[in-house]
Amino acid sequence: MPIPSPSLPASERRALVTGASRGIGAAIAKRLAADGHPVIVNYRNNADAAARVAADIVAAGGEASVACFDVADREQTRKAVSELLRDPRPITTLVNNAGIARDNAFPAMTDEDWDSVLRTSLDGFYNVTHPLIMPMVRQKWGRIINLSSISGVRGNRGQVNYSAAKAGIIGATKALAIELAKRRITVNAVAPGLIATEMIASVPDFVIDQIPVRRIGEPEEVAALVSFLASDAASYITGQVIRIDGGFQ
Ligand code: NDP
Repeated sequence: MPIPSPSLPASERRALVTGASRGIGAAIAKRLAADGHPVIVNYRNNADAAARVAADIVAAGGEASVACFDVADREQTRKAVSELLRDPRPITTLVNNAGIARDNAFPAMTDEDWDSVLRTSLDGFYNVTHPLIMPMVRQKWGRIINLSSISGVRGNRGQVNYSAAKAGIIGATKALAIELAKRRITVNAVAPGLIATEMIASVPDFVIDQIPVRRIGEPEEVAALVSFLASDAASYITGQVIRIDGGFQ
């Protein structure tokens, strides 16, 4: 039996990647563009960096646009998403990547540390995904890929806020996958270990010694996994949390 194919070719299926001005999001945006998707590069602050990502995509023969909105701000996000939906080409691939860390031992954690992390990762997932769901359902095809973390799978010292947000993403992924499975929309989470971006500026040697492959991962390695989950070939994978962590336990 053939794999069910989407109703549109990749060139008509736009992909929105949140937090794509640098790091893992930028690598995902470039990879999805190389796969043939017109990509929307979302960012919050750094317009120059987002413009550079879009320019790199265009220079490589792809299509990209930038969209500035703060995923933690529900009103701003709703407005921005409804603008994006004015383009007749559907957004059928959504990568909820935007996330921040504000690490602190729990007794020293501030309200701001807690609120900002939960608002960006968990509320951000809701704020972006909710207005995109019905258009995706009408399209009868979609891919939603959420960036969790091994901190959300197993917890991590100094990251009670971040672990809670990333574990929340896992619960949301599993529930939404069940709701949308009949609509040919898959929902999966990717849970990276340590990946070389600004978020983890310096990693001491003793931590690297705990990673069985003895190195930090590259954003492009996460992007390759996201690319697969976004592809037609991954249509039977949904509700999963896929770790990409060099074997870190
Ligand atoms: P970076 O800090 O390198 O980049 C974060 C990106 O998110 C930037 O583009 C930033 O844009 C954007 N961003 C932050 N807050 C918002 C917001 N409120 N609205 C819109 N965009 C926002 O992070 P990484 O690339 O390292 O991480 C990407 C994802 O992967 C995150 O969800 C992170 O939690 C997860 N992850 C990362 C790991 C790692 O080791 N690096 C490990 C496990 C998970 P701007 O610069 O404009 O603010």
